[in-house]
Amino acid sequence: MPTLECTRDTGHSELPVPSRMHTHAIPDTIAQELLAIADAAPLLVFLFDGDDRLRYANDAFRSSFALAPDAFPSWSELMTHCHTEKVGALINTPDFPTWLASARSRRVKSPYRAFEADLCDGRWVWITETLRADGWMLCIGSDITDLKASGRALRQSRDLAIRAAQTDALTGISNRPHMTAQLEQRLAQVRQRSQMCGIALIDLDEFKCINDRYGHPSGDLVLQHFARTVQQALRHEDGFGRVGGEEFLLLLPRIDTAGMEAIIRRIMALLRDASPLPAHPEFRFTFSAGLGVLLPHDTPSTAYSRVDKAMYQAKAAGRNGFRWAQA
Ligand code: GH3
Ligand code: MG
Ligand code: MG
Repeated sequence: MPTLECTRDTGHSELPVPSRMHTHAIPDTIAQELLAIADAAPLLVFLFDGDDRLRYANDAFRSSFALAPDAFPSWSELMTHCHTEKVGALINTPDFPTWLASARSRRVKSPYRAFEADLCDGRWVWITETLRADGWMLCIGSDITDLKASGRALRQSRDLAIRAAQTDALTGISNRPHMTAQLEQRLAQVRQRSQMCGIALIDLDEFKCINDRYGHPSGDLVLQHFARTVQQALRHEDGFGRVGGEEFLLLLPRIDTAGMEAIIRRIMALLRDASPLPAHPEFRFTFSAGLGVLLPHDTPSTAYSRVDKAMYQAKAAGRNGFRWAQA
């Protein structure tokens, strides 16, 4: 579900998730009953696939979000719909693209999460998100409007403070401490479940020249534009943050090396077509990247150093390219 601008991550929402799913088959009749109950429930029940597209939503969800029965938007399309039509999730922001980039960078980063959210119709809902290893995510929202309101303001302030501590102020995506925390979490998964996770360090090319030539505010625009562009190439569980001035880190679980290269190439292609400085429509910029894979014995700093080294090799090779780190 939407990571809403106004959501309150409880901070106490991590539940132990079984490392192995039950694999016994549910009889068709039971599955049909389950679905029929979900269809008719007053709860909001909705399901996203690994590409972050809505694949199921019950009637309560569709009516709250003013979605036609045959509408299956991606999460970003759904949020855009909420923002423009003022339906479903309440999104209070003067700058929607930055909000979207920021919400995406915080979305779907752990197997289980619960938070409070406002709906446009004034309801207050408690959302749980349960993420499966293949990226499918079941979301359930319960109406808690009538629950005691005391403490809400306090919870809200605390959660906004947590959010601010995790967010890069300029681009709205994760900041360095938040990426380090995500990296630690991914490393734990790599060790426990032997789940593959890719890591990529991206550094914008000749960024000092961009500042020198067009001015520091234009440099800031380029950084904001880059953050939004990259998110178009990512999947919902990918981690993405700004870890230095013009340096960005990607964490790409559940992917192979060809998939990682495809994401990097897609970002490069998006940048070739994009024009981040309205006053200079012909202006383009590039980046160099170091790619690697998290290893069970890594610490955040060894993983980072490896891709940093590879990134510098890409710079030395002429920039606007990537290199793989040696394990
Ligand atoms: P290279 O291709 O080797 O990476 O060259 P570069 O010019 O990108 O690298 P360098 O490290 O020399 O310069 C990075 C520049 O990024 C210097 C710094 O002023 C600028 N920078 C860092 N943070 C910000 C920021 O928040 N906004 C702007 N506009 N510039 C920033
Ligand atoms: Mg740099
Ligand atoms: Mg640079």
